[in-house]
Amino acid sequence: MTIVDTLNEMWTGLLEIMTQFVIPDWNAIIGLLPLLIFLGIVGPLLTLLPLGIVIYQLRKPRVKGVRFEEGPTVAAIGADGQPIFQPGLPHCRRDGLIYPSGTARCERCQDPLAVICPMCGLGRMAMVDTCTNCGLVLKVKPRSVVVHRAASGPKPGGAAVA
Ligand SMILES: [Zn+2]
Ligand SMILES: [Zn+2]
Repeated sequence: MTIVDTLNEMWTGLLEIMTQFVIPDWNAIIGLLPLLIFLGIVGPLLTLLPLGIVIYQLRKPRVKGVRFEEGPTVAAIGADGQPIFQPGLPHCRRDGLIYPSGTARCERCQDPLAVICPMCGLGRMAMVDTCTNCGLVLKVKPRSVVVHRAASGPKPGGAAVA
């Protein structure tokens, strides 16, 4: 009897001590729960969502920007007053324009484009892909964008060449 009573008292006392420690802790955690949920779930979402939108917006125009570079570029004029043409790229001597590889005709004057062999420096027609002098084959990758642009006639604007 007495041993059981003592044990019961001890147990009750232990429970009282436990509740004093456990319950205030849980209340604090439950009180912080909305904040923890906000920081753990809503916070990252709010940070990642605009970040994802920014990355998406940065990536999207980049693809378009590359395509816009496909037109002819005006050749730089050298010290002798003649336009400088990069070897391996089709160009129009009359207009001083450099075209992306795969272009055969000038958009402005419809002349067949010329190309300088990157290996031996000999000039030839751009539509001929093998050098008659050294036999170097220029890999021509026809791109639909270029073909459409070349077929659509002269581009308005562009720098005038005297
Ligand atoms: Zn031309
Ligand atoms: Zn050559």
